[in-house]
Amino acid sequence: MRIKAVICNCKGLSPSFKDSDMNTLPFEIESDLDVDYAIVHPQLCGMGGARVMEDALRSAETDPDTFVIVGACEPEAQLKLFQKLFCKTGFGQDHFLPVDIRGATNREILERLGEKLRESVQPRERRH
Ligand code: SF4
Repeated sequence: MRIKAVICNCKGLSPSFKDSDMNTLPFEIESDLDVDYAIVHPQLCGMGGARVMEDALRSAETDPDTFVIVGACEPEAQLKLFQKLFCKTGFGQDHFLPVDIRGATNREILERLGEKLRESVQPRERRH
């Protein structure tokens, strides 16, 4: 099982992200959670961010053991924002794990990501 963590900083302007430190967060995620890597982009729904997401999804599309967990705005909004990329890459949405990280400190973001991984990935792995 491989997990890629992609974090959005919502342009660095949204007050919903003011309690987190995006400079230290990727290292904390890689240290605390069982992920391949963690990266931060300032706007995943923008042009450059969409390219980053496309690369992450494409490199995982043929690997049934790879999950992409995304910390950004609310999950329903993420599903809408990235819908075109799912169609374009063929990435299975059951391996896409959207997490709302708004209004959270780094510690709270780690807890939310960890909780999502526990509820979404491990039960699936145990069935294999
Ligand atoms: S993906 Fe969501 S959190 Fe990221 S810039 Fe777009 S609206 Fe903001």
